[in-house]
Amino acid sequence: MPELRQNFFTKEWVIIATERSKRPEELATHRPPQTVPSFVENCPFCPGNEGKTPPEVMRFPPNTAEPWAVRVIPNKFAALSSDLQPTRSLQHLRRRVEGFGVHEVIIDSPDHSSCMALLPDAHVARILSVFKERYNSLGMDHRINHVTIFKNHGADAGASLQHPHSQLIATPVIPSQVRHRLLEALRHYDDAGECMFCHMVEIEDQTRIVVKSEFFVAMEVFASATPFATHIFPLRHTATFGEITAAEIADLARVLRTLLAKIYVGLENPDLNFTVRSGPSDYVAARHFHWYVSVIPRLTRVAGFELGSGMFINTVLPEAAAEFLRNVKAEKATGAGA
Ligand SMILES: [Zn+2]
Ligand SMILES: [Zn+2]
Repeated sequence: MPELRQNFFTKEWVIIATERSKRPEELATHRPPQTVPSFVENCPFCPGNEGKTPPEVMRFPPNTAEPWAVRVIPNKFAALSSDLQPTRSLQHLRRRVEGFGVHEVIIDSPDHSSCMALLPDAHVARILSVFKERYNSLGMDHRINHVTIFKNHGADAGASLQHPHSQLIATPVIPSQVRHRLLEALRHYDDAGECMFCHMVEIEDQTRIVVKSEFFVAMEVFASATPFATHIFPLRHTATFGEITAAEIADLARVLRTLLAKIYVGLENPDLNFTVRSGPSDYVAARHFHWYVSVIPRLTRVAGFELGSGMFINTVLPEAAAEFLRNVKAEKATGAGA
């Protein structure tokens, strides 16, 4: 039977349309396997082409005598400019801020053909450490109120270059979707005297869990708007990504990489986005909010009903998606543990 479910956090309703339900494997891309070269001469992110990008912001390892493994550069086609000031103006109802902000690219690996699902866990941990360093560094700038770290994998997810990379955009405003989440979390904290995420992680039954580790749990979203939307929550209550410890980074790298590899193998390398959803950096020690990672494979398209109502129709039962991903054997297809 079809069912409507409400997201406990965003309060959005979704329709889980089991009448049209698809078995999870029916959503696999069935793409013919591609052969991608590990070096492309005119790719600005490939080693040897560093001169084609703006000067780097940071790199790992920091010693420039060694070849880089992860590199951060300003986005050449940045959405916002760090040369401006976030000067605000209001004319009648029209509010504006000058286009101040920071837009950076994190080049995940020197290898053009790699992707995060196939990288060794230790390398994913390095990328996450770079995320943390940039997150905390940008958080010190009082002109910045929100930092979004994200990955677009594949053209349908918005990636314009094939070379594996992530991005971050720091804005002088808190986006209203983020503000809504922060306020809902605060409302729940004030009503119930607890963090809603800690409660959810505690009560979550096994049916939606994909991977659980020492410090993290990856689970399908109960009222998932799209098939296979997965959230990874830290088990320790922390409001901002910047508070993650080195041990937690190593563990998150394993969980994230395992999840991405299961999606890569089980759904045949679909386009996907992931994003780190953190409280603003001055939320350190806040009791009502809890950061997490959201992974969204791009398997379906948004149509008129979604645009008109803001309500999504999901054709895959989240519990079936979790069972499918739990059963995908991804270890041998990847560089796990290497
Ligand atoms: Zn490249
Ligand atoms: Zn919590």
